[in-house]
Amino acid sequence: MLTDKINRISLAHLPTPIEPLPRLSAHLGGPQLFVKRDDQTGLATGGNKTRKLEFLLADALAQGADTLITPGAAQSNHTRQTAAAAARIGLKCVVVLRQPPAGARPQGNWLLDELLGADIRWAADKSQVLPLMDTVAQELRAQGRKPYVIPYGGSNAVGATGYVVAMEEICGHAAEPGGCMYDHIVFASSSGGTHAGLTVGAKALHYQGRVLGISVDEKVDDLKSTVARLATEISAHLGLGLGFGPDDINANANYLGGGYGVISDFEREAIRLAAQMEGLLLDPVYTGRAFGGLVDLIRKGEFDRDERVLFLHTGGVSALFAYSEQLRIKN
Ligand SMILES: *Cc1c(COP(=O)(O)O)cnc(C)c1O
Repeated sequence: MLTDKINRISLAHLPTPIEPLPRLSAHLGGPQLFVKRDDQTGLATGGNKTRKLEFLLADALAQGADTLITPGAAQSNHTRQTAAAAARIGLKCVVVLRQPPAGARPQGNWLLDELLGADIRWAADKSQVLPLMDTVAQELRAQGRKPYVIPYGGSNAVGATGYVVAMEEICGHAAEPGGCMYDHIVFASSSGGTHAGLTVGAKALHYQGRVLGISVDEKVDDLKSTVARLATEISAHLGLGLGFGPDDINANANYLGGGYGVISDFEREAIRLAAQMEGLLLDPVYTGRAFGGLVDLIRKGEFDRDERVLFLHTGGVSALFAYSEQLRIKN
């Protein structure tokens, strides 16, 4: 395996299953659709951050850390999985969250952060998050504690290595280039770790298909440069000797709508489609938007009928309940 020499602990149920989506494929008259269930990684309702945390927590333990610090939005799936991983390993966890809009209730991931025992610190706005993390780290050091800081989404070279593992699950069995059964791998991309890890795995395994991240919040040029930089760092971390530039990254940012976490008919319809055609729950912020993008690309004829498209379900279903008002269709 590409990651054999890297410190890792076990947190996720792996390999995650891959399931066909026959009713959706027929309904769309499009390619053969499949879903890889990284929403079923198993840690406190699962999601894509759990793969990253297998490497991040191994690194934290190797450094003798006793407390994790990580940032996110009030409905962050990443902070919830980090809080669960900390509990599982016996570390403390401080999550620095962006204050939600007035009137927001403690539910969804915010509630789970509390139940999992995370110490929640609120930042007034996005610009205050990183300074508050620094303050918390200094406070902890002054108390003789050893903090370990995990960036947004767990997306550094250590964390994103988890998605090199995922790419090996998807296509590592292919004995020769072109032997992978999936022609396209499509998923939601935000902090870029999932995207970068899959891209590195694809190149290392000589995957001939396309690894396509659908942006949920970044402009296309910004996302491509972030992912290229991260991919190059992962490659160095694993000693693979690969380099990546923005042109090596496949990204689509045509579905940003009203911005991060703003739910419109686009996401509402994608979520209903997957739920009602396949009994598959998507989340409001990431997979609802990315799957909506995939459906739109299918309708525009982006894929051949005989191609196989794998949608990577990155999780987030816990947030559905925090968006109940926005998700219901009002008449
Ligand atoms: C964090 C997250 C993503 C984005 O993954 P990145 O590695 O940050 O790009 C996608 N889907 C869900 C549900 C997430 O929680």
